[in-house]
Amino acid sequence: MPTAPSTDATDRVDLLVDGADLVVTMDDDRRELAGGWVACTGGFVTAVGGPADARPAAERVLRADGCLVTPGLVNTHHHIYQNLTRSYRPATSSTLFDWLTTLYPRWALLDEEASYVSAWVGLAELAVGGCTTSTDHLYVHPAGGGDLLSAEIAAARELGVRFHPTRGSMSRSQKDGGLPPDSVVQDEDTILTASEEAVARHHDPAPGAMVRIALAPCSPFSVTAKLMERTAELAERLDVRLHTHLAEDPDEDRYCLETYGVRPIEHFADCGWGTDRAWVAHCIYPNEAEIARMAAWGTGVAHCPSSNMMIGGGGIAPVVDYRAAGVPVGLGCDGSASTDAASLWMESRGALLLARQRGGPTAFTARDALELGTRGSAACLGRLGELGVLAPGAVADLVAWRLGGSGRAGIAFAGALTDPIEAWLRCGPVAAHHTVVAGRPVVENGELQVPPGSDLDDILRRHRAAAERMQGLDSPGSSPDQGPSGRGSGPRRVRR
Ligand SMILES: [Zn+2]
Repeated sequence: MPTAPSTDATDRVDLLVDGADLVVTMDDDRRELAGGWVACTGGFVTAVGGPADARPAAERVLRADGCLVTPGLVNTHHHIYQNLTRSYRPATSSTLFDWLTTLYPRWALLDEEASYVSAWVGLAELAVGGCTTSTDHLYVHPAGGGDLLSAEIAAARELGVRFHPTRGSMSRSQKDGGLPPDSVVQDEDTILTASEEAVARHHDPAPGAMVRIALAPCSPFSVTAKLMERTAELAERLDVRLHTHLAEDPDEDRYCLETYGVRPIEHFADCGWGTDRAWVAHCIYPNEAEIARMAAWGTGVAHCPSSNMMIGGGGIAPVVDYRAAGVPVGLGCDGSASTDAASLWMESRGALLLARQRGGPTAFTARDALELGTRGSAACLGRLGELGVLAPGAVADLVAWRLGGSGRAGIAFAGALTDPIEAWLRCGPVAAHHTVVAGRPVVENGELQVPPGSDLDDILRRHRAAAERMQGLDSPGSSPDQGPSGRGSGPRRVRR
């Protein structure tokens, strides 16, 4: 059954994506249309059809021959600025807490230029990997660093990707028993004022919004309970979403028991966060009762598969249990702590492998993984029905993945003939052939569409300069960190 176009059949649409091997709609009936097409106008999907359905006339046709077409993938957890300290040698063999304390002083050097170039590079990287909407958890706001949030939003607008940055925060420094140094925390009033200003300036509540803001105190070990409570009240008043890290590491369980006298999820509830306005990153270590509470609240989980593995220790978020209980589960690539390569294709594959590692070979399929990165992520961001689905009225965000043909893709997908969705994650690796956001190709034929007035090489030079400065590699004779255990494993400048 074709979906009835919401425009008159004689209207020309802006864009017709045609010729796909398979269009996976992820609509309420989970229709998969062999030989299907998608029509878009004004940034929204207007019609989806199969090969026998009449296509509307279009201003532009984007061919998707040999491709699987899916809704654009939605990234629900990231720290984009951390691409300025990717694979930072002094912290590559650390626990999560050691990794953080090694890097906080580096991130204290963030400024608007660094925020802008890291967002430009990070969002371009995500688009190439099939992501059309990303959040960002920007929780480091050093004194004198400027307006970091506006700088990254400027990059997103230039690239034309949909962006849900969060106004993150840290208020509990080492002198108050927290993990971060004084240089990267702010007082509660400063944080709440800046949060309200960010919402007033950037948040667009309208359907099809390209930018929305959420509020995001960082974690139980870097913010006070009072800030959590006041942020929840502010989010309610401004009608924006809430995000934080939760139950990420066994060290966090110990910290919360010692500091608050309760486990992390109990603390979260005590602060007034147990609502469907919140989604949380990781949530690896809930017990059964806590999973039920999360479901009752409607609180979403950003599952970060690579992060689960990189943090190590055997913890795997109980994604199958969450979904069985009714907890919305989306996908996130997380920052450099875990994913120095930010690709939602890779996280989708990671979700598939980890769920089967945990629950056995029948526990999880590629379709389940796609469900996380589309509908599940959309639910985390409060935009189910608008993002993560190809149906009339949804935003025109989609990805064409080339599964075969000539060259490298031909080699990777040779012999995969019976199930393109399973092949999508089992074969590969694969990047997007086309990434379309709001009806506009951001990646076309595998190439990032660099916006007019921008120069990729120049952005990369600027990114390198910012990264060298933050890593202490920008002046001869500088003496960078010697590593957490003094093993002399300080960073060395790599010349390429
Ligand atoms: Zn994180």
